[in-house]
Parts: sequence; C-alpha cells; structure tokens
Amino acid sequence: MFHKGLSFLTRVVFPQRCFQCNVLLSITEQSLCQFCLCSAPRIDSTAAMGTMLLASTLPTTRLTSFRSALYFTGAVQIYCYSLKYGSNYPLGMVLGKHFLTPLILTTLSGQTRTVVVTAMPVHLRRLLQRGYNQSEALARGAIQGLLKAGMNARYEDLLQKTSHRKSQINFDPYHRWRNTKGAFSAKKKRVPEGALIFIIDDTVTTGSSLVRAAEVVLQAYPNAEVHLLALAQEI
Ligand SMILES: [Zn+2]
Repeated sequence: MFHKGLSFLTRVVFPQRCFQCNVLLSITEQSLCQFCLCSAPRIDSTAAMGTMLLASTLPTTRLTSFRSALYFTGAVQIYCYSLKYGSNYPLGMVLGKHFLTPLILTTLSGQTRTVVVTAMPVHLRRLLQRGYNQSEALARGAIQGLLKAGMNARYEDLLQKTSHRKSQINFDPYHRWRNTKGAFSAKKKRVPEGALIFIIDDTVTTGSSLVRAAEVVLQAYPNAEVHLLALAQEI
C-alpha cells in the first residue's frame, strides 16, 4: 500500500512519456499510450492459422496451438529491440499484459483450469549481459493480466538452455531446426495435473526453438497441455 502511494507520487512529479510517440502518459498508462497500443500491427486469426502450421512438425497431438500476437515490423521491431537490448523490462510487462493475456484467455475459452506461464530461456552469459530474460518480462506481464481477469495463473521457470549455440540469424529453416536440437532441457517444478502450460517467446521466425522447447516440456509434464505464444512473428 505504501509502495503504491510512493509510485503515485513519483508519477506526479516525473510524468512518463509514451515510448513510441512521446505523448505524456496518464496515471493509468505505462510505457505506451493507448493509441500506440491500439495501432500495433496485430496478426488476425487467418494469418494466425498459418503460424499454427509451423507447429505441425512436432511429433505429438498434445500441442494444440501456436500463436503470435503481432507482426515484427515498424514500431514492433523497436519494441523488441528495446526489450532485448535496452534494459526496458517495464515495456515487456506492458506488452505481455496487453497482447499476450488476450491470446491466453482466447485459448482458455472460459475454462477455469490452472495456467502456468513460462519463458523461453536465455543462456546465462546473455542473462548477465542483459540483466533479465526478455521473454520472462512478457510472461510476467501476461500473468498480471490473467490475475486481473480472475484466472488461476502463475509463473514457473520450466526451461533452461543447455548450450550456447550460434545465433540463428543467418540460418535457413532446415539449419535452424538442426541447430536447436538438444538446446533446451526441462526443470522439474510443481505443475498441477491437467494444467495449461504457455511457453512465451519474444520473436519467432520459423518457430523451431519454440517447438524444441515444447518437446522437452511435453516430455517432463506428460499430463499438461502445452501452448506456444510469441509476441511478434517475423515475416
Ligand atoms: Zn504513444
């Protein structure tokens, strides 16, 4: 309560501006104004169907969805860059809450099952360079939105990176898929029976890393249902 009071005072003395358009933010806004949030290039449901096809390489029928919220273009590229390299954790929370929470709620479609949200891991070296995992910022923002919507949701650190692999930027889809083999392992945590696990990534190109992560999570938690979510889809 005291902390909230202090943060209110800070916002009055040092008003925040929108990260994108620089307009002064209201006391209820954080990092981005409503106009910028509303004008982000969302992926509609038809395009999302194409994204889901990427997951068809997974040799299981238990993976039920793979969605991206936004196109990786224009302002979204700047958001992702700031999140990854600009120490902008609060922006990640806002993006997770605004764009990923609705996708999770749509997937749940009224079910009241426990939701466990986890993040694609980064290697310890990158974690030390950046100070945080950008996908975890998105995941924690999504949790904030889910709790506000009255859902039973929590964050669990289910994945770890097992090796520091080469950057995938210059790889074609086949080499990306091969490069990600054995890249992740699952941590054993307390996940309730029948929980829905959402694995969050910041950007996705072919989806190969997310699908590899899903493989190890499905193996470690055979009774859970796994869904994959990315903030932005590269095109
Ligand atoms: Zn704005």
